[in-house]
Amino acid sequence: MTKHIFVTGGVVSSLGKGLNAASIGMLLESHGHNISLQKFDPYVNVDPGTMGPFEHGEIYVTEDGAETDLDLGHYERFTNAVTNRDCNCTTGSIYYSVITKERQGKYLGKTVQVIPHITNEIKNCISKLATTDTDIVISEIGGIVGDIESQPFVEAIRQFGREIGRENVLYIHLTLIPYLRAADEIKTKPTQHSVGMLRQAGIEPDILICRTEKALSDEIKEKLSLFCNVDKESIIEEQDVKPYLYEIPLLLVREGLDKIILKKLHLHSNGDHLDRWLNMLNILKNAQTTIEIALVGKYIAHQSAYESIYEALTHGGISNAVRVKVRRIESGDIEKEGAEKHIQGCNGILIPGGFGERGIEGKIEAVRYARENKIPYFGLCLGMHCASIEFARNVCGLKDANSTEVNANTPEPVICLLEEQKNIEKMGGTMRLGAQKCKLEPDTIAQKCYGQEIISERHRHRYEFNNKYRDIFETKGMVCSGRTIDNELVEIIELKDHPWFVAVQFHPEFKSKPTNPHPLFSEFIKASIDNGNNKF
Ligand code: GLN
Repeated sequence: MTKHIFVTGGVVSSLGKGLNAASIGMLLESHGHNISLQKFDPYVNVDPGTMGPFEHGEIYVTEDGAETDLDLGHYERFTNAVTNRDCNCTTGSIYYSVITKERQGKYLGKTVQVIPHITNEIKNCISKLATTDTDIVISEIGGIVGDIESQPFVEAIRQFGREIGRENVLYIHLTLIPYLRAADEIKTKPTQHSVGMLRQAGIEPDILICRTEKALSDEIKEKLSLFCNVDKESIIEEQDVKPYLYEIPLLLVREGLDKIILKKLHLHSNGDHLDRWLNMLNILKNAQTTIEIALVGKYIAHQSAYESIYEALTHGGISNAVRVKVRRIESGDIEKEGAEKHIQGCNGILIPGGFGERGIEGKIEAVRYARENKIPYFGLCLGMHCASIEFARNVCGLKDANSTEVNANTPEPVICLLEEQKNIEKMGGTMRLGAQKCKLEPDTIAQKCYGQEIISERHRHRYEFNNKYRDIFETKGMVCSGRTIDNELVEIIELKDHPWFVAVQFHPEFKSKPTNPHPLFSEFIKASIDNGNNKF
């Protein structure tokens, strides 16, 4: 029978529930269990795909093309679980499904209500992940306990626990123990209140994970145990680990969390196999050389707008045993002050995905700087569009080249709307999304990186390289090194006369893991190290 772990949050949001759920998943895998992870988001959007990066941070794309919360990225980076559209449900998607059934007359004349119809739908979403080969499902409830929006989710997980038996369920509550500098004290009261709120909703947490700046004394643990009704050994201290996120599982192991979970859920262990993870951390923490990558984007100010890219760059560093520092550059600043001032001294340049007109000229200028100065360049999605526009303008002499996303009437539309997108009116979930196959040309950088002919990568875009320009591009030295299997769409372009200039239509960052870095990121970092060696 599949066991279930529910992770809730208290006191404040942004405590790292996703990272903790992912770390717990990774630890249970290390003991030999198959796990699945899922996130419930209490907002009303059906998915985060229509939200801007400033609003929501990165949109993570799954193999099956769901636009999801970035916590799913943590799940895939920390564990072997492959997420899909069932792994991220929102209030919006739950209601959408219930309302669709109501319109189909499926409730047979009943009044449709939050309880039982919405809560049943939430429980169905949990059950869907409990397949025969899954030992443990870990479900994270977004937001914090006590939010109006999260009430149906909290009620659903309470009912779920009752239905499958308390011995098969674990409730883990992540909370904050604030430190008051003026009083030089850490305070347990906010946690007492948030656990109180959970208990009012009928849930007794089994384990508390306490985010804290200072170590928790025995006395504090006893106080928490007594007032929150949680065993003292299940009060887990978690101090900040920045900058090494991948250390979180080890903090939890140090506190014995993995053993406590196994015991409480009556699960066996075939030994903890953490060697690969420990090796990875060792390389990450002991890297002697630091290289600097310029990331030119327009959501730089948002901490997690490029989450998977920052992580994938770190992974590329791990495979080359260097530390990667990212210089976050606002493309608007390049527009105002030129590329040289902001990019000078960086070992490599990366332009990430993005939407709309703002900032595009700064990115195109950054591409020119990379191409002319032979600095390794890696373009992702919009970063490939910018590379194409720059090449068309400055190498092919097509001065007015542009993407029709930026200028619908450009005389030289090197990037234009995908054919299949032309009649689409609804915005949610309608891009070219998810994993698609791509065929690589022999003897190209791309083919050498992957070491195979057919690859599969995840997509999220509406615009695409215009095939009308393939010939002139190839004559002038740009190679189309990857195409869709039917040869219709250009997926990768790279420059011949340059040490490392690769731009891809897809998002390789979503598939990179610390223990299995993506080959394009590894090779980009390698080329960037070489660039530094040549220069200094
Ligand atoms: N805005 C571009 C498009 O829709 C690029 C998308 C992206 O970078 N993810 O095609």
